[in-house]
Parts: sequence; structure tokens; C-alpha cells
Amino acid sequence: VRAVTCTDGVFELVERPSPVPGPGQLVLDVHACGICGSDLHARAHADEFAATVAEVGYDGMFRSHEPVVLGHEFTGVVAEHGPRTRGFHAPGSRVVAFPLLRHGDDVHLTGLSPHADGGFAEQVVVEEAMTFAVPDHLDTDVAALTEPMAVALHAVRRSGIGKRQTAVVVGCGPVGLAVIAILKASGVRTVVASDLSAGRRALAAQCGADVLVDANTGSPFDTGASRGHVTTAAQLFELAVGSMEKLRRIPVVPWERIWKLAEVTGATTPQHPVVFECVGAPGMIERIVSSAPFRARVVVVGVCMATDRFRPGLAINKELDLRFVLGYTPGEFRETLQWLADGRVAATPLLTGRVGLGGVDDAFTALAAADRHAKILVDPRSDAVTVERC
Ligand SMILES: [Zn+2]
Repeated sequence: VRAVTCTDGVFELVERPSPVPGPGQLVLDVHACGICGSDLHARAHADEFAATVAEVGYDGMFRSHEPVVLGHEFTGVVAEHGPRTRGFHAPGSRVVAFPLLRHGDDVHLTGLSPHADGGFAEQVVVEEAMTFAVPDHLDTDVAALTEPMAVALHAVRRSGIGKRQTAVVVGCGPVGLAVIAILKASGVRTVVASDLSAGRRALAAQCGADVLVDANTGSPFDTGASRGHVTTAAQLFELAVGSMEKLRRIPVVPWERIWKLAEVTGATTPQHPVVFECVGAPGMIERIVSSAPFRARVVVVGVCMATDRFRPGLAINKELDLRFVLGYTPGEFRETLQWLADGRVAATPLLTGRVGLGGVDDAFTALAAADRHAKILVDPRSDAVTVERC
């Protein structure tokens, strides 16, 4: 079978023996496999990436000199069952798979480890227990978005955002766009999106963003949606003294009791947005910490692997919540697939390009240029060596 290997950042289209499924595994014919931001990052900074992941206890990520087949966002057709499989999916049926694979005693990241080749190939091996049937009416390409959309679903769940809270999405690359689509599908009324690129802001609008901010000239914390947010210490002090003056004027009921009641209903906490950092570059946390209103919750979704700095003093003064998120659970993966099948989430604007195995290098170049593309799908059945617009 044909596969694209990446060695020292160089792609090569090679012919390899057909993969052999182990116990409980399936071989899929790949029909679509998305290129992820982490693929771009891993290609350029594999060793740094591998060292970071090794520090949290996973030593199986590829190093730059090891040939690896990237790709962890795929839809495939069941081609072969390994021994001791349960037969959930008939041969020929379409599935998506959670990208984790057993190899000996270990579990590896599919498409990011030399022990678990990914989807930039005609075939890929997956765990039967981690595969989910694609509903008949769901498009194969859209199904391939299950993985990146699951990242967004997980981020939105972990953010704890309420429908009436303002969401601010900083960065409208594939991650930011997925977060916007999931926020809207979750019923969040107001989503503010900011990006430097006009092309990406247009995609954000298609994904459902309500307020678009040109990051070259404006702040996402200074729009109509920011009304009621506390942005200065002076405002906070005025709020404290002003509230107490009012409470003390109330006869009969002691003010402490009203305060306790207000605390229970959340009325003593200033209204605040939930901010999603979806850029993943050094300096972004500082930029948000310095410009977000008091009590804002900051959810860091963008993957920045470099050492970064920010001023805790600002975060302390504003009592910001800083929360980091990664990945998703099998339950969230399966739920995302269902949301895509139900048409509940506007994911199709993410699909901007398509290419064959021979065009993977061209696709990575196009994605690095940022403005024109969000998600490019690799289709091993296509002969296209340059990216075609979807
Ligand atoms: Zn990914």
C-alpha cells in the first residue's frame, strides 16, 4: 500500500507491505484524513514535542529522524478484521476511529508514533473497540472532522460556559473555528471571534460567530458584547461601595442575609466572559491576561510547546481563571460524531481543500500560509498533487 512517511521533516511517498491487524484490531481503507495543526508542529519540531510528551509519561512519540506516517483525523472503510475482533462493523462499512493503538504492552498515538502509523496512507490499523460507525447520511469528509470537532467539544465542556455568558474566541484557525461551531451548537448566545486574517474571520462568520473583531485594529474585549464586564479596579471598587450603600439603606432585613442570598445566586460575582485561546503561540496568554476583564475564565486550547511568559500580577489582580485543555474522551468523540450526523454543528466551513497522497507536502505549505485554508483533507484515492479547493 502507498503511504507518506515523514523523516526529518521531509515527506516521501513510499510503497509498504499491507498492514497486519493484531488481536482486536481492524484495517481500514482510508477515504479522508485531515491535516491537523499538531501535524504541522510535529513535522517542524518533533524532538521538542516528543520531549514534552515524554515528561508526562509517554515516550512513544516519534523523533525527527524516525520515519512516521502522520494523520489522526480519518474516515475509513473496514477492509479486514484481526483475530479476536467482535464484529461490530461489517466489512465495507464506514467508521471513524479514536486515534490510539495498542502495540505490545503499550498504547500509542496513531499518526504521531513510529509504532502506530497514521492516515496519510491507503490503509491504517485501528482498535475495533475505539471505532464508531458513520451514519449513512453523513458525508465521509464531514465525518473526518469528528476528531478536531471533538477537541472543541471537550474544550467547551471543560470551560463550563453558560449560554448567557459571552464567549471570546481568540484565533480563527481550525481549532478556533471548531470551538466557535461547538459554542453555537451548544446554545451560547454571543460568540466574539478575533483574528488577524480577513479570510479566517469570514470562515468564523460561517461557523456562527456573532461579533467579528479584526485583531490588527481592535480588541475582542471592547465590543458591544463586553457590556457589564468589569474592566478596571476603579469599577470594581465602585461596585463594592455602591452595592453596600444600597444594601444598608434597606430597612428590616439585615444586609448580610441579602448578601448571602446574592452569593448563592452568583449576583456578587461580576459578569465575565469565557475566553478561548486558540492561537497557541508564545505571548498569547500574556496578551489575554493583560486585556481580559476581571474574573474572566481563560481556556487555553491552542497548543504552544515553547517556554512562555506572562505576568501573574495582572492575573491575580483580576482574579482570572486559567484552564488548560487537551484531547477528548471516547464519550465526547462519539457525541461529536452524532452532532455532525444530526447537522447540529456547522462544521462544513472548515473544509477548504483536498489533495492526494502525492500532494501532502503542498498541503502543509498551503496550511502554513494560514489565510486561505482551515482544514485540508488527504484522500488517498485522489491523484491531486496540489491542493484543490473544496
Ligand atoms: Zn489533531
